[in-house]
Amino acid sequence: MSAQVKQVRFVTPTGVSDLVAAAGLLLGALKVTGCSTLVELVGVWDDPDCSVVFDDAQRVLLFTHRVALLGVGVTAAGSVTTVAVCSTCGDYVYVSSSVVLGAGCRVTANCGGSKLVKAKAAARTK
Ligand SMILES: [Zn+2]
Repeated sequence: MSAQVKQVRFVTPTGVSDLVAAAGLLLGALKVTGCSTLVELVGVWDDPDCSVVFDDAQRVLLFTHRVALLGVGVTAAGSVTTVAVCSTCGDYVYVSSSVVLGAGCRVTANCGGSKLVKAKAAARTK
C-alpha cells in the first residue's frame, strides 16, 4: 500500500425520513469513491484503502433501506438517480437528481401529502 488514504466520514442527514438520510449517505459515498451503486460500494467499503468510513448506525441505516437504495446511483453517462420520498405516506419514487419536483405527493393516489423530499448527498464531517 502506498500513502495513507484520506478517510472521509459523513454526517447523517437529520430532519428527513430514514430513507432520505440513507440515500444521502449513499450518494455522498458514491461521489467520493467513484462507485456507481450500493452493490459496488458494499464490495469495497471494508477494504483498508477504501476512502469512505461509515459508523455502525450508518451501516444499519443503509442495510435497512438496501432494497430501495438499489435504484439509487450514478449512470454510465454520469447522471445521478436519487429517491424522492413523500413526507406523508413515506412511499418513494426514483428521480433524476436534477429534476425540480412540483407540489403534491404523486406517489400514492389520494395521499394528500404536500411534497416529496429528494435525497441529496450527505455532507462530510468537518
Ligand atoms: Zn404520499
